[in-house]
Amino acid sequence: MIKVEKNFTDIPTILTKKIREDAFDTNIASSSYCDDKNRYKVGSVQKRLNEIYHLKCAYCEQKLLDAPKHIEHYRPKDTYYWLAYSWDNLLLCCGACNSAKGNRFAIQKSKITYDNEEFCDIHALGNNYDLIEEPKIINPEKEDVLDLIFFDSDAKIYSDDERVNHTIKKACNLNRDELIELRKEIITDFINRMNKHYLHFLHDKNINAFFPDIENFRENCKKENDFYAFRYFVLNNSEIFFENRVLQKIVKSLFLNLKGKK
Ligand SMILES: [Zn+2]
Repeated sequence: MIKVEKNFTDIPTILTKKIREDAFDTNIASSSYCDDKNRYKVGSVQKRLNEIYHLKCAYCEQKLLDAPKHIEHYRPKDTYYWLAYSWDNLLLCCGACNSAKGNRFAIQKSKITYDNEEFCDIHALGNNYDLIEEPKIINPEKEDVLDLIFFDSDAKIYSDDERVNHTIKKACNLNRDELIELRKEIITDFINRMNKHYLHFLHDKNINAFFPDIENFRENCKKENDFYAFRYFVLNNSEIFFENRVLQKIVKSLFLNLKGKK
């Protein structure tokens, strides 16, 4: 999960329309989510979320090019039925993270209940609710936890921070086999390239041969790409992925050198 930039005041107009207000009123009247047409799922909202999230899942960061793109409720709509159409409650998510998260929403303080909030106010209730509830799950639209995320040499993700760890392990299960495999592909390709250059380097001492692949890895470490948190971690902790100590030093110093130039 990485911080995304969402403009909370630029609410998609369609979420403010009468038809959504009627659905909101129906939910309020029955104290439950009962919109069988799921009116938060509309093309213009999907399009905006696709852009904001660069077509990536808010939690696992895999690219959802051809995969189903779920519009996920940070606070589950079945419990927080009055937030079903709230712009600051809608995230982009993959199917697996969405179903792992389900209807659960662990909090550390007092749970909010509906308190006569009106339709015109629903898009900006989250910040106040966060203060009262202190959710355990990270909200990628509001929190930057990049430096609290770590990986081991097998590309498994972990954190020492209680909330980040809750999000990784309990809420979204970000060490699913398929996610580990996708992250491993990134690092294995890089390790293989570095090993190949190192074998040549032992003979010709030509350090320049490493540069294109080092630069390429650095270039691909951008928020638009899948698994940015993992790429960012590798960039700053490359040594843990190499057994050979000399190679560890070479890769580390070349990344540092690039950093110095930027
Ligand atoms: Zn996901």
